[in-house]
Amino acid sequence: MRWMSSSASFVTALPKIHQKALAGLAAALLLAVFIPSTDNSISSPLSLDHLIDTDAPFFETPTLSIRQQKAPWAFDKVPANETLLIPNIGRSNSYQYIVRKGDTLSSIFERLQLPQKTMYQLLETDLNVLALDNLKPGHTLVFDKQDQQLLRLELQFNLAHKVVYQRKEDNGFEFNEVRLEGDWKQKLISGEILYSFTGSGKQAGLSQWEAQTITELLKQRVDFRRDIQRGDTFEVLLSRQYVDNEMTGNNKIEAIRIKNRRHEINAFLFEDNYYDEKGRNLEKAFQRYPFSGKYRLSSHFNPKRRHPITRLIRPHNGTDFAMRKGSPVVTTGDGIVTRVVRHKYAGLYIEIQHGQSYKTRYLHLNKSYVVKGQRVKRGERIAQSGNSGRSTGAHLHFELHVNGRPVNAMTAKIPIAVSLTGKKKSSFQKQLKDYLAQIEASQAQQIALNKKDSTVKESTL
Ligand SMILES: [Zn+2]
Repeated sequence: MRWMSSSASFVTALPKIHQKALAGLAAALLLAVFIPSTDNSISSPLSLDHLIDTDAPFFETPTLSIRQQKAPWAFDKVPANETLLIPNIGRSNSYQYIVRKGDTLSSIFERLQLPQKTMYQLLETDLNVLALDNLKPGHTLVFDKQDQQLLRLELQFNLAHKVVYQRKEDNGFEFNEVRLEGDWKQKLISGEILYSFTGSGKQAGLSQWEAQTITELLKQRVDFRRDIQRGDTFEVLLSRQYVDNEMTGNNKIEAIRIKNRRHEINAFLFEDNYYDEKGRNLEKAFQRYPFSGKYRLSSHFNPKRRHPITRLIRPHNGTDFAMRKGSPVVTTGDGIVTRVVRHKYAGLYIEIQHGQSYKTRYLHLNKSYVVKGQRVKRGERIAQSGNSGRSTGAHLHFELHVNGRPVNAMTAKIPIAVSLTGKKKSSFQKQLKDYLAQIEASQAQQIALNKKDSTVKESTL
């Protein structure tokens, strides 16, 4: 089965994100995303049909007079038949570009005739975020120019998550990753299994990614092929993120209950980990170091680091280990490989997603033994360390992210497969009660709705 990243949920949430955007825009974007060989006129709607109006204060709804304006090219010449950049209303010298299928940062820069030097400066800044090589159709880039120079670039993944690159004189850019907390609203997805959990789950409203995360999480406790049969039931309590009443596409799985003929399988999210009803950790343990043996720690995690010469802020979002080129690198937890990428500055790097909350990255590699989409087990050899990209000597740069944020992998609380005890256990039990109450309440609501529905149907018969 092909692994799908969290952008899948973003895509499914697309039509609801921008209620103010034209319906045609949503349809065109969806088509562009779902149909691989779409005719260009569909995948690149013209001019303002492209406009996604986000809720950031500097974006305003376009007025008619501005709609009729021809979108000027950001940086000099405009190919006559192309209107890829949309002026950002209310902000002069600001333009938006919506990422299309097949785009890469360099193809976008080429099409927009932006200098390659600027792109390399951005990539250099992006080294510790690695956001720019994760562009997907539907993401928005906002370019601000000044004196024919790129002053600021904003990459909007969704309403709640963006990365801003700001020029600092001639030296390059600094970045700032912005995540809004937003409001999280719960929603119960429930149903009966017909052929498979994944199929019926998706039918009921789970994304592919969510269904896969659940089977991955519970596979030690239930054999989804053998133990799950037609007529078994499931309940999944999701939490969906909203910013200004619009769905961002970010979802969290909070509680899972699967009932088959013999028993009930439960999982509840508590402090970034899943536990069963007895407070036993369901997640596989991590190991602290991405290798076996001992290597010298040569550079610490430091979110406030500055470049020694330019003085620009260059957060070091990982931990470096001095390792001879060719040393074996292992994954610190079970997971799925989400990226194997060659980057001008990060070199050859691997990213692995571990369940819902954790992600690790391994940079400057010499050789990868894994491919994107592959499942890996804790301690499995995934690569040879190296010196690729911009690196002052052979070393491994290792990152751990929790819920999308880089943390110090040497000190972070990582899942260790133990049961909750004492105070933790009582606060878990409180949380568990809340989840169960929420599930019951949603069910009661659904039953009431169904009854109302059938009464309506009956009365119209
Ligand atoms: Zn490093």
